[in-house]
Amino acid sequence: MNIVEISGGYKYQRNLCDSVINYTIKKLLPRLRTLEINVELTNIPDDATGYCMIGDNNREFYIEIDKKLNLKDMVLTICHEMVHVKQYARNEKAIESEACRLEPKLALECWENNII
Ligand SMILES: [Zn+2]
Repeated sequence: MNIVEISGGYKYQRNLCDSVINYTIKKLLPRLRTLEINVELTNIPDDATGYCMIGDNNREFYIEIDKKLNLKDMVLTICHEMVHVKQYARNEKAIESEACRLEPKLALECWENNII
């Protein structure tokens, strides 16, 4: 089973994060069962809204999301970082344009499918 651990932020933000991550795993990496994704809802001081870092191997990831974001931007940012998870997990290059292109599409799907 994939493991999603979320820390920091408020409970509703952690719940939102969990729903969006589980949805995007299903959409982007439907066959993977051994992912371990650690998310920290934290205070990001610079202009970035989130980060995605690969852990010891390409099944382990560390994501940081700015907890000051509003609901819409938080969903967009999580979707964006999950595209990078997909890229690393599939040994693709971390292409920013793909993440930016898929981010609004995935976020809209989250709303349309009532997962948030
Ligand atoms: Zn990016």
